Amino acid sequence: MLNSEPEIKVALLQNYKEARLNLKGRFLLSDARSISGHIIVRIRQGEVALGDTSGRVIASGKTIMLSAHNKATFTVSDVKIGIDFHWQRSQEQSFRGNLVLSVASDSSFNLINEIALEDYLASVISSEMSAEAPLEFLKAQAVVARSWLVAMLAKKKTARSFPELKTKNEIVVWQDVNNHKGFDVCADDHCQRYQGITRIISDNVHKAIKNTRGLFLVYAGEICDTRYYKSCGGQTEIFSTAWEDKSPDYLRSVTDNVGQHPPIQSEAEARDWLTGRPHAYCDTTDKELLGKILPAFDQETPDFYRWQVIYSRQELEDIIRKKSGIDFGELKNIVAVGRGPSGRIYKLKIEGSKQVVVIGKELEIRRWLSSSHLLSSAFVVSKTNAADGSVENFILTGGGWGHGVGLCQIGAAVMAAKGLKTEGILAHYFSGSILKKLY
Ligand SMILES: [Zn+2]
Ligand SMILES: [Zn+2]
Repeated sequence: MLNSEPEIKVALLQNYKEARLNLKGRFLLSDARSISGHIIVRIRQGEVALGDTSGRVIASGKTIMLSAHNKATFTVSDVKIGIDFHWQRSQEQSFRGNLVLSVASDSSFNLINEIALEDYLASVISSEMSAEAPLEFLKAQAVVARSWLVAMLAKKKTARSFPELKTKNEIVVWQDVNNHKGFDVCADDHCQRYQGITRIISDNVHKAIKNTRGLFLVYAGEICDTRYYKSCGGQTEIFSTAWEDKSPDYLRSVTDNVGQHPPIQSEAEARDWLTGRPHAYCDTTDKELLGKILPAFDQETPDFYRWQVIYSRQELEDIIRKKSGIDFGELKNIVAVGRGPSGRIYKLKIEGSKQVVVIGKELEIRRWLSSSHLLSSAFVVSKTNAADGSVENFILTGGGWGHGVGLCQIGAAVMAAKGLKTEGILAHYFSGSILKKLY
């Protein structure tokens, strides 16, 4: 386990051909020249080239390091966030720390920000949720984001492959630790949202980071792989529904309430659970609280605890063809083959007139069944038939938002609003883990 604060490399832009930056304050090149103001980054003859606004090249190379002098900051125009999700949009963002530009391919570069872990966390927490959230929730979120990141970087070092089982009739894919090369994390939802200092870091976030500095969740002598997501839908999920077939003990399925509901085991139980509305911490319509924990663009998703999506058959055929590249012909049925304890499907059979394919795991299922991503893979399917007997509509009735493994953010915020402390919140979602200060 680590014993001092690490520095991490965050990619702000990946595989870009051009970027416009505004350096506010002085940045030092490796030859000690200092630059500031507007610069344009391009790729030129296989190297990154920094130019001024008149087109003059200031520096070029495979990698260019710009060290921030004093409290210098930089602004990047047009950063895409929420890539491939329904909340995708562009923002201008500002950052603190060093800047590294490195060649990613013959025609593109990455823009990487080097920053101390605790500063990074302050921004991530401000980016992922509104700063007015309850303090005990922000502290829990700080511990979880810190632990996940360090556990993930340790896992990455052991060089794992990205499992993918693809046969003609079965496609099972998932990605556990990220496959980023040359940096630790990206700045988008793929890893953790990091929007620099654009979002104001409130007193509460500062307090949450300071009060938990160096604090990690630990189990059996190792930093816990503390996953989190928006809403479990009433019951949390086990690791193997989303990633590889092993489930750490501290990520067991728990009911997001006092007391324990038995895990969902049959299709009938899944239907009862998802068409019903069992009470849970994350079942809240408290707009004021949600407004405090979710950034504005997440509040565009009001029905996350129980939701319904209705597709005409043709509409769903088009989406699946586009997402999978497979022509299923006439879509006959969609059947859950394997579900985890929260009702999330990890194996789904898609039956068409031309093809029958089983797909997994949860994220791949969510990707295939929506033009962006389904909120979760916890759903049951109903059909209505046309006069000729073919399916007219597919109705997906589901629950929760995200993979469901580990901390339920909305549930945790509700617990904090009810007066529960960070320790209690973390013990609820990560059974048997303990808090330990490592630096
Ligand atoms: Zn990433
Ligand atoms: Zn929940």
